Amino acid sequence: MGVSRVGIVGAGTMGQGIATACAGAGLEVLLVDQAADIAARAVEEIAEELDRDIAKWRHTPSEKKAILGRLRPVDGLQSLEPADLVIEAVPDDLALKGRVFAELDRACSPATVLATNTSTLSVTEIAAHTKRPQRVIGLHFQNPGTRAPLVEIVRGLKTSDAAFATARLLVQALGKTGIEVFEYPGYVTTRVIVPFVNEAMHVVMDGVATAEAVDTAVKLGYGLPVGPLALADRVGLDELLRWMQHLFKELGDFKYRPCPLLRQMVRAGHLGVKSGRGFFEYDDNGQVKRTEKP
Ligand code: NAD
Repeated sequence: MGVSRVGIVGAGTMGQGIATACAGAGLEVLLVDQAADIAARAVEEIAEELDRDIAKWRHTPSEKKAILGRLRPVDGLQSLEPADLVIEAVPDDLALKGRVFAELDRACSPATVLATNTSTLSVTEIAAHTKRPQRVIGLHFQNPGTRAPLVEIVRGLKTSDAAFATARLLVQALGKTGIEVFEYPGYVTTRVIVPFVNEAMHVVMDGVATAEAVDTAVKLGYGLPVGPLALADRVGLDELLRWMQHLFKELGDFKYRPCPLLRQMVRAGHLGVKSGRGFFEYDDNGQVKRTEKP
């Protein structure tokens, strides 16, 4: 089944990026958050992000107009009834996602494919909250959803080949590369990145080097475009902590045990780019202001 109308639930970091990518590919996008004004504010934030992209020659003003013309903030999950495919991007909390999927199942057309952007939770367990587990799938976009070229297409135990084919068509339409993944905690990308970023935090906590020095060493040492701590700030330290807690609980392996420094920073409200302060400090445009000394 082709996809021309997409619903997005959760207009935060990922929801905004995915919505922009879908609208940029010519799809009609319905955007829902906890309240109508949050979804409307998210569209304003997307417009501001597009302005920054125009300044960097990534978009033209007419592309911005076309993208915004295809984005519609709507109120309540029942507004997603006409969507061909819905992508849920609410925080990584199983109880919350379960409630959202149960409601989506009631609200959407029986043919609609329901996708979750979860990084660590079980697609099969989320699907169990619906009467259509064969049409529930994982679409794990990376951050930033607008530009990151990869999407993990995750099969739950009951995901049908038809739902997989629909999801793959969508990923292709977005110009992204999809890899097929069979459900396992953390899939590929989260499972690999979590111990890497966690270890970088331990290095800072042990006083071996500053956050800035750690990122410089890893970037230049291994030719990576971004350091582990800047990456953690972009993901959101609260979100990263949830991933680690879930992987640790699910797999019981100490390599996923969250660094105490991460817990401390989350408790202090230092969540990374979204709060203006994490391992580094950020201005309103999300650009680094100066290094934070933990
Ligand atoms: P976020 O906190 O930035 O945004 C979540 C949004 O969901 C918020 O706008 C919130 O108001 C909204 N929301 C909460 N409850 C809701 C409800 N009941 N109905 C509708 N909207 C609701 O979170 P995020 O970082 O965008 O993460 C979302 C999902 O994407 C998570 O499952 C996460 O694991 C996954 N993910 C995140 C990243 C990342 O780098 N941040 C990368 C890949 C995948």
